[in-house]
Amino acid sequence: MGYVTLKDTPRGNNYDTEYDVIVCGGGTSGVAAAIASARVGANTLLIEKGGTLGGQMNVSGPPGFAYARLWNPRGERDVAGIVEETYQRLYKENHALPALRYPVRDKAGFSFAYIDPDWWTDLIFEMIDENEVTLLLDSLVVGVLKDKDAVNGVIVENVNGRIEIKGSRIIDATGEGYVAIQAGAEIDYVDREKVQPHTLAFTVDGVDWDVLLQYVRNHPEQFSFKQLIFPFEGATTREEVLDWYSKCHDIKSLGELMGFYELRDIALENGDWHPYSGAGFFLIPREGGHIQAHFQHSSQVDNTLVTDAWDLTKCMAECRRQNKIAWRFFKNYVPGFEHAYITRTCNELRLREGPRIIGDYVLTRDDVEAARKFEDSIGKSSFKAGGYHVASMDTLNMIASLDTEEQPAGEINVKSDLAFPKDGGSYDLPYRILVSRNIDNLLAAGKSVSTDRPSYLRYLHQTMVTGQAAGAAAALSVKKRITPRELEKNVKELQELLVSQGVVL
Ligand SMILES: Cc1cc2nc3c(=O)[nH]c(=O)nc-3n(C[C@H](O)[C@H](O)[C@H](O)COP(=O)(O)OP(=O)(O)OC[C@H]3O[C@@H](n4cnc5c(N)ncnc54)[C@H](O)[C@@H]3O)c2cc1C
Repeated sequence: MGYVTLKDTPRGNNYDTEYDVIVCGGGTSGVAAAIASARVGANTLLIEKGGTLGGQMNVSGPPGFAYARLWNPRGERDVAGIVEETYQRLYKENHALPALRYPVRDKAGFSFAYIDPDWWTDLIFEMIDENEVTLLLDSLVVGVLKDKDAVNGVIVENVNGRIEIKGSRIIDATGEGYVAIQAGAEIDYVDREKVQPHTLAFTVDGVDWDVLLQYVRNHPEQFSFKQLIFPFEGATTREEVLDWYSKCHDIKSLGELMGFYELRDIALENGDWHPYSGAGFFLIPREGGHIQAHFQHSSQVDNTLVTDAWDLTKCMAECRRQNKIAWRFFKNYVPGFEHAYITRTCNELRLREGPRIIGDYVLTRDDVEAARKFEDSIGKSSFKAGGYHVASMDTLNMIASLDTEEQPAGEINVKSDLAFPKDGGSYDLPYRILVSRNIDNLLAAGKSVSTDRPSYLRYLHQTMVTGQAAGAAAALSVKKRITPRELEKNVKELQELLVSQGVVL
């Protein structure tokens, strides 16, 4: 099928249509939900407040590692489905790199399968069209329609005015539970004092990578090693990592460079670094072997609730201020950055911590640690629980001095919350974490699914796994004429559908 615009297709213009499934939010979770729903045969509407798709994948991103961690530390594949499908299509068109599993990070379960976020978005537009999802951009969902405790539509504001659109199932894929909150769903969120800091990412070109690599080889101890934080027998040692850095020939294999401790401390003394984050960036390979530096830790602003527009406004202004300081530091202190330049500062914040719905099950830190299996599994993850970012170098330094483990720049591991799936395995994600406990016909996908704070499922691949499952479940429940909650009694058909869509269960 050729490319069709909304103007060309009657399904796009019709506000009177009653949809089977309405997905709110066109980030990674929302697009996966919409595609999966349509594939089950549901008449599906995807509504996005911005003018494009991708959310944190491209509007406020990309994430440093995307796609990453598709295998667990045992080397078992635990994430596929729409993630893998998009990866394969991009790879065939030279917009993704081979999945890289560098020995220095492999034991901690790091894998990188870099994809180009701009081409990812173009592909998603194609897939939305191929699967006959109706797309409505530039439209903010501002409320829901309800019959008692069940949602049955949404209220949208856009250039057409304020519009009601009917839908049998509503999926909140806004990343921050905004629609669930409007529906009166029970949610869990932290206090303003506790919320993890948000950031504003920017991308840089023109770095002299040879000069920088020489600095890395000569000063390996100046960097933070995320791969050490893995309490496994046979895990990588500090000596191995130092050795790897000092002999590194391909800077891409390091994935990220966080630390620059000595230079940063001099800059701090000179008043040329701000005291809210560590220094560092991700290495993003692009087409033709080109590398860009992507900064997503150079600003960190705390005390910002994603549910308060005043907070978000202050946060954006403060991120811009901190990024300017960080950029001057890299230009003036870090070898190789002399002729570098910023190619793009994102125009939206990267929100690190938002509300989670309370579902029929709440995934816990202990589930992560036990690598728990669930009868109603809709996907898997091997990501740890309990790593939090902080916006204060004082806190970071204080915690680092108490702890023998390495602390990645900007992140602290709270010992009581920290958990890795046992034996390097993966834990199941139960279907019930997608289903709102008190509102019928409402599902969550992406960051706001039901977990406790430590086991927050915010990684990009996790959001696509929960998105795909929420979409398929919503559509199936419509087809079977039962509520998403009633579907919990027998998820066999849902699981078969997901497996047929390539999901690893
Ligand atoms: C600093 C940072 C670094 C990260 N690094 C990594 C990494 O290295 N690797 C990794 O895998 N993950 C990483 N992540 C996590 C990952 O990028 C995100 O958690 C994930 O992309 C979120 O997907 P989502 O679909 O839940 O939400 P989002 O991507 O936020 O999508 C939500 C969408 O909903 C839309 N929306 C919101 N409200 C409304 C409304 N009312 N009406 C209509 N539309 C609405 C938004 O415009 C947006 O498009 C990182 C996250 C952060 C913050």
